[in-house]
Amino acid sequence: MTRNTDDARVLAPGDTIGILGGGQLGRMIALAAARLGLDCHIFCPDPDSPAFRVAKDATVADYVDAAGLKTFGESVDVVTYEFENVPAETLAHLAPHTPIRPGARSLAVSQDRFDEKTFLSDAGVPIADFRRIDSEADIAPALAELGSPAILKTRRFGYDGKGQTTVTDATDAARAWEAIGGAPAVLEARVPFRIECSVIVARGLDGHAVTYDIAENAHENHILKYSRVPAGVAPATAEAARAMGLRVAEALGHVGVITVELFVVGEGAEERLIANEIAPRVHNSGHWSEDATVASQFENHVRAVAGWPVTEPMRHSDVEMENLIGADANRWPELLAEPGAQLHLYGKREARAGRKMGHINRLKGPASGH
Ligand code: AMP
Repeated sequence: MTRNTDDARVLAPGDTIGILGGGQLGRMIALAAARLGLDCHIFCPDPDSPAFRVAKDATVADYVDAAGLKTFGESVDVVTYEFENVPAETLAHLAPHTPIRPGARSLAVSQDRFDEKTFLSDAGVPIADFRRIDSEADIAPALAELGSPAILKTRRFGYDGKGQTTVTDATDAARAWEAIGGAPAVLEARVPFRIECSVIVARGLDGHAVTYDIAENAHENHILKYSRVPAGVAPATAEAARAMGLRVAEALGHVGVITVELFVVGEGAEERLIANEIAPRVHNSGHWSEDATVASQFENHVRAVAGWPVTEPMRHSDVEMENLIGADANRWPELLAEPGAQLHLYGKREARAGRKMGHINRLKGPASGH
């Protein structure tokens, strides 16, 4: 069958969005799509994927299964993804059959920390000073230039603090190189940040983009624990964060939701932003938007990939999102009873330590701040 793989394709209600990845993000995209009359077909190697249970169709296959990808690509009207480590080969198999949104450039840039930093720096976005590390021998001279301590991060496949280690001095180089598995890496100056934030942008096929209010993010054991909106930053800093997010989305020609994680350094008139990394997708630090805005990050992602206009989020409440990690989710009976809070559970069968099982959005009164 000949499909319209044209980049300008606009879906109609009843059409199908294909989603690569069947975790909680895919599940929440599918739930938002359902509300807008769109079906979803989830592609994931895990037969027990949380997203399968809320979608019309599911394919259980590997991300490089050519036949499975062809059938999937032919059965959907657009493909999107819930994680950035989609292999380039997957895209190559899908591209003849369906548009892929966001596009290959957004994925390529965010899959490799060196390319990501180069892109951000070229786009005029401030980042921590960094050096490219291709071998253990590169670490000591880079550390001498950057100052210590510095953070060694693998270029690819790092998440939630995995694939990174702090390097304190040159004698620590061998341990650090081994700790990250001896893979191509970057060494990054440690940023003395006051708080961490993120900005989420939704950009449509027509290039129009909207921004979400900045979230202040707190981590525990390298995993996001709380996102609070409004963030404790000056109005000018919030404006600067939005502008950075928009610049990044525009420079990538991004279609869909994109997140830029930020460090906030200093306070008051001294406050400034340093970008940490990009996630070319809906993000855990945007889950608050499900209950505190008119249009969540998931809705705007669906709108964008469908070729529909994105809409202003219009936050109506102050909010705190708490991630329910591992056994936290066993508290569901008491969480259900909290007034002004909305519980979201992902339907994962097993509450393993460190596993994101759900989240709760606690509304804190009418929207304030910026
Ligand atoms: P990442 O995997 O790059 O998102 O890093 C995970 C976490 O490590 C961040 O959320 C920060 O808390 C911390 N971190 C990463 N890079 C730096 C840095 N250059 N300076 C200080 N802290 C960092």
